Amino acid sequence: MIEKIKRVLEHENKFLVTTHVDPDGDAIGSMFGMYFFLKAIGKTVRVYLKDSVPYRYAFLPGPEKIEKDLKNLGQEVILVLDCGDIKRIGDEYNLLTEDRFIVNIDHHETNGMFGKINHVLKDASSTAEILYDIFMQFGAPITYEIALNIYTGIFTDTGSFRFPNTTEKCFRVCGEMLHFGVSPSYVAQMVYENHPRERFLLLSEVLRTLEVSEGGDVGIVLLTSEMFKKVNANYEHSDGFVEYIKEIKGIKVAILIRELENGKCKVSMRSKDNVNVGRICGKFGGGGHKNAAGCILEGKPEEVREKVKKVLSEEL
Ligand code: AMP
Ligand code: MN
Ligand code: MN
Repeated sequence: MIEKIKRVLEHENKFLVTTHVDPDGDAIGSMFGMYFFLKAIGKTVRVYLKDSVPYRYAFLPGPEKIEKDLKNLGQEVILVLDCGDIKRIGDEYNLLTEDRFIVNIDHHETNGMFGKINHVLKDASSTAEILYDIFMQFGAPITYEIALNIYTGIFTDTGSFRFPNTTEKCFRVCGEMLHFGVSPSYVAQMVYENHPRERFLLLSEVLRTLEVSEGGDVGIVLLTSEMFKKVNANYEHSDGFVEYIKEIKGIKVAILIRELENGKCKVSMRSKDNVNVGRICGKFGGGGHKNAAGCILEGKPEEVREKVKKVLSEEL
């Protein structure tokens, strides 16, 4: 498979790189890492991202121009990175019709295999780690820009090397990135110690809604539209709130339910050890990984909480 991808990257000249909406560090790191790699081997590269780059990843070097619509697509090879479901690149996914040459590089358990080439490694910590192996096939130099993006992708998708997807390989690849100038403390500061105060005002509202159920196994918090308004915060400020709930002793499943504009809620689930939230979110039409997954459900946050609790009480 990696040979096939190598051939495409070598023989084709025009590429468009993209990733999922609501992008995380692996999404942005993989997309920008691939951008700089393709530039380094002399290719023409476009980058398409429906959402903006979140403030916590704004330090990552990336292309000057990020396109926000797909309408003027040419004959580019489409590289979809870190995206388990083609719909998650945004509502313009339907412009990527059958005749498009899509290369799907990912590590989601629930990947839809929507590409002409599907390189999906469920045991990889991150898409950035998979890209490292691809880049190594070329003997092209790893630049600081590529290294910083790869490092950040692995660092964030392993929860700073804390989640069960953390392997020896993560440390090896990240260690190697230090040779190219990456500073771990700089990355950690940018990602974790660079928040606007609105985030904490919002967090104080959210923590008040904590409900622990299933005999202490499940912790759920809610984030309503009113809370966003009250502290003048936006969706981006709540990135990672679910991780705090996972820090509670004994919690096996942490859940954050965020109200969206359209009468729906975004549900984020995180689990410890053997509880598979990817499968649980799959039941709701979403997906993800064993220990980190998400889905979108109809209803107000309180209603969604009841729906989720019902399924959890059957599953745990
Ligand atoms: P999040 O809670 O948004 O941080 O997502 C956790 C993981 O689940 C990420 O790897 C996402 O890519 C995946 N994920 C989140 N929402 C969805 C969804 N609606 N459908 C499929 N996968 C999702
Ligand atoms: Mn991701
Ligand atoms: Mn990922």
